[in-house]
Amino acid sequence: MPALTQVGQIAIDEAVKYTLDGAIERSAADSAARDSRHTPYERPLSVHAIGIDIGGTKIAGALVDEFGSIVREDRQPTSASQPAEIEDAVVEMIQRLSEGEDVVAAGIAAAGFVDAAQSTVYYAPNINWRNEPFREKLEARVDLPIVIENDANAAGWAEFRYGAGRLVSDMVILTIGTGVGGAIVSNDRLFRGGFGTGAEVGHMRVVPGGLPCGCGAHGCIEQYGSGRALQRMANVVADAGGIGQALADVRTRKGTLLGEDISTLIMAGDPGALEALRELGDWLGQACASLGVILDPQLFVFGGGVAQAGDLLLDPIRKGYLANLPARGFHPEPEFRIAELVNDAGVVGAADLARLHATQR
Ligand SMILES: [Zn+2]
Repeated sequence: MPALTQVGQIAIDEAVKYTLDGAIERSAADSAARDSRHTPYERPLSVHAIGIDIGGTKIAGALVDEFGSIVREDRQPTSASQPAEIEDAVVEMIQRLSEGEDVVAAGIAAAGFVDAAQSTVYYAPNINWRNEPFREKLEARVDLPIVIENDANAAGWAEFRYGAGRLVSDMVILTIGTGVGGAIVSNDRLFRGGFGTGAEVGHMRVVPGGLPCGCGAHGCIEQYGSGRALQRMANVVADAGGIGQALADVRTRKGTLLGEDISTLIMAGDPGALEALRELGDWLGQACASLGVILDPQLFVFGGGVAQAGDLLLDPIRKGYLANLPARGFHPEPEFRIAELVNDAGVVGAADLARLHATQR
């Protein structure tokens, strides 16, 4: 039984029943039933799909079954500056992974803006793609339906289907790495927006006229809630002396304060490192309060390296959320959890989205 929320006093199971009117009640074991809900007619016997995640330095791929388990996997280094090489590598990987298998579709995840039809990559930060009709190009070379998806969306979808989000209908995931990534699931659907480029939660503005962001705007939550922001906050604590002494000592010894040093001190209970983490959590909690007012999720999930701090991160997030929540106490409140899927979320999510897309046609 999930823990009760602090103020709303409504367990997540009840919230699901309330939200979904009993029509699609969930249990941890009903993922197969969920599939049949998505595809009520003529379900093919084989529902294996391929997921491929194109990263900055490598392409990871897997054959994934209908329960989100990896049947076979593959990976290959890639030269991100050569779009033609990437296309060839993806085609070859699909061919290798589908050899001797009955495969219904392939989903391709990549960083960037993907159109609402999941067909064209408007822009990719790591690959020289501008309005790249990647689905069309792949479908001309492999005999499978293809869908293209933003990598954070694909990973978030896997967490929704097979990880921390499997019991809810509405979820926001924030991935706290160097930057802040994320995805939104609303009413059992991945939220993409009208043009397909929505759910860029890391670039929600939390400070008007705030710190400049890599996206070109100012004051994005990425500048206050990311691993890089934690480094900045830890340096400020170190500068102040007092509880920052251990941070300052590491910085003096190494010449810089790395994320791994801060993590080590956090896990050791160092008060200075915990102070920096609390500040980070407070910013993230504030962002969740704003997101919650609009999206009303039953669950916020946190992934990425910084989320390994577990409750040490979740506690200040909850506090920041409650301190900034409009109409507090008058409605059910969400749970806050750490992501369960660490590796392969991108390929599993891409495969699942492709499979659902293909079997719903
Ligand atoms: Zn930004």
